[in-house]
Amino acid sequence: MAHLQIELPTIQNWNCHNCSGCCKQHGIFITEEEERRIESQGWEASGELSKGLEPIIKEKSLFGKKQSRLAQQPDGACIFLDEQGLCRIHGKFGEAAKPLACRIYPYAFHPKGNEITVSLRFSCPSVTQNLGKSLVRQNKEIREIAELVVPKNRPESVPPKVTGQTRLNWKEILEIIHRLDQSMAGEATPMTLKLLRTLFWLNLIQQTNYQNIRGERLAELLDLLVEAAPAEVPAIPEAVSPAKVALMQFRLLAGQYARKDTFASMDTSFKGRFSQLRAATRLSSGKGNLPQLHPDLGEVPVSALEGSFGPIPAESEELFTRYFRVKIQGIHFCGPAFYDIPLIEGFQALALTYSVTLWLARWRAVAQSRTTITAEDIREALQIVDHQHGYSQVFGTWSSKKRITTIAHSGNLDKLLIWYAR
Ligand code: SF4
Repeated sequence: MAHLQIELPTIQNWNCHNCSGCCKQHGIFITEEEERRIESQGWEASGELSKGLEPIIKEKSLFGKKQSRLAQQPDGACIFLDEQGLCRIHGKFGEAAKPLACRIYPYAFHPKGNEITVSLRFSCPSVTQNLGKSLVRQNKEIREIAELVVPKNRPESVPPKVTGQTRLNWKEILEIIHRLDQSMAGEATPMTLKLLRTLFWLNLIQQTNYQNIRGERLAELLDLLVEAAPAEVPAIPEAVSPAKVALMQFRLLAGQYARKDTFASMDTSFKGRFSQLRAATRLSSGKGNLPQLHPDLGEVPVSALEGSFGPIPAESEELFTRYFRVKIQGIHFCGPAFYDIPLIEGFQALALTYSVTLWLARWRAVAQSRTTITAEDIREALQIVDHQHGYSQVFGTWSSKKRITTIAHSGNLDKLLIWYAR
């Protein structure tokens, strides 16, 4: 049988360092077959799990669909995580007995024409810190994991739409993705400037009449625009405050990323809902104190996040460059990997994670009584952001998508990128 063709990010290292972080922050959704398998493992009768807790929670999703997930211990950790930080299912029945979601994390596999491209989740600290062996040297092992996820006789994949309802073919979509990757390469140019230049040419591509410009002509146009971008956006413009309404939309979005959603920590009581409502009111008004939404993000005044926090630490340029390139090369920002959002709108949402990360890094700094952000603030903030981006059901809702297009179409995306990078 022919091997599955996979494409790996060339700039990323990774190996698991058993920090058990993923077992403490992710909700693990399971299939019916996995549910039957775990039920047949006899955990309830064994008495090995936290007292009084059933191993599987059956519930309805935000969209009313039935779903099952592994239960969590009172501190948010997976019900199967033992005192040594190891997985009980793995220990007793072997790796293959675990739910697929646990086996594939932090990899993400997405169609790319006839191949499968591999991305990573930056919620894993080993990913953000680039720890371990180069992924390209782990091709065989990663392909074996991909074979567990990708159906053998899968139908030909459909490329993501380019914008709105417009669909191009794979070759054309890959021409755009290749230019996006090129535009993010290199650490000599600050990420803020790389994003502004990319949004400049992407904005023009969004307005293209695709009936006339296809194939070679599209590739030529892309070359022209990408080449013109540095002259059109020679430097980072002076920061101008984004419009009030855009700041409000942004804060509501950023607050959503900051929410800890380990199910166990979600407070659905009246008091919990009231506190969420209060948080939303403060986020939208920009007044009062932000409540603690995450262990690293203590109570701080909303207004304290708006001033200048100094330049972005040089080592964070490498992290941002790797983050955006892995997400682009792995097509982890649009189409099936991202709520079926078209490529251009998906890139706008991805670009906004830059500002959200810097906003959360500011929050972390202020919570620790600092007025500048460190590379560690940024790394921790990116882990929070990428835990949610593309995975939280909330970001797939109509209102969330609308929030991003409103920010982008009103010209405030550029302003936000500059505002929180100063
Ligand atoms: S968060 Fe990453 S390093 Fe930590 S246990 Fe999970 S996969 Fe391993």
